[in-house]
Amino acid sequence: MGQITLKQVTKRFGNVEVIPSLDLEIGDGEFTVFVGPSGCGKSTLLRLIAGLEDITSGQILIDGQDATSVPPAKRGLAMVFQSYALYPHMSVRKNIAFPLRMAKLDKVEQDRRVEQAAAVLNLTDYLDRRPGQLSGGQRQRVAIGRAIVREPSAFLFDEPLSNLDAALRVGMRLEISELHERLKTTMIYVTHDQVEAMTMADKIVVLRAGNIEQVGSPLELYKNPRNKFVAGFIGSPK
Ligand code: ADP
Ligand code: MG
Repeated sequence: MGQITLKQVTKRFGNVEVIPSLDLEIGDGEFTVFVGPSGCGKSTLLRLIAGLEDITSGQILIDGQDATSVPPAKRGLAMVFQSYALYPHMSVRKNIAFPLRMAKLDKVEQDRRVEQAAAVLNLTDYLDRRPGQLSGGQRQRVAIGRAIVREPSAFLFDEPLSNLDAALRVGMRLEISELHERLKTTMIYVTHDQVEAMTMADKIVVLRAGNIEQVGSPLELYKNPRNKFVAGFIGSPK
């Protein structure tokens, strides 16, 4: 579970080609980071995988199954955005349980999953608060909680920490890495932050204008960047 394959995936908006043709294999349980400059197609790629946008051509396979006609809710993936999009009038508990209520999951099972996610994310004492009564880091945890309760086969993070201040970012980075250790679920993490990429990734995918410049472990890319562009992004002296 959690294996994602892109085969010659292209994406055009009107006549603007954002993804010319992209092949990528993401293994089960892998923590993959997409890095690249603003506008290179990172978010678009995540949205294609999530099914929030349709691919123009090519194929996306999730656990070997063609996902083309599978709607987002049925793909078994959960997306976490930088803007937390929490419901301000709902308690933390209700915010986290929201996708489960939508799916009409049994109430006992809803509660079980919410309690479990809250425990993992240190939110147990905050379940009855509203988002406005939480810190930025706690709000981001609620957003992650809402993803966890769906028990997805993969998490898709789109620059989840970019609204947090530097100190909080370091803490959340560690928390997300720990979450990955604990859950062992596939995670795709989009960032333009070099430090996040280098410290969190099993595998880094460097993107430029919708093309993959290089794929490799942080160490591989650091030691052997294919060109100046990759070296610049990785912070390699080469
Ligand atoms: P990134 O997340 O790497 O900053 P995006 O995936 O958001 O980049 O955008 C990649 C390119 O696609 C940009 O040039 C952007 O303007 C364009 N784009 C993204 N979404 C749309 C859309 N819905 N309609 C038209 N162009 C879009
Ligand atoms: Mg983006």
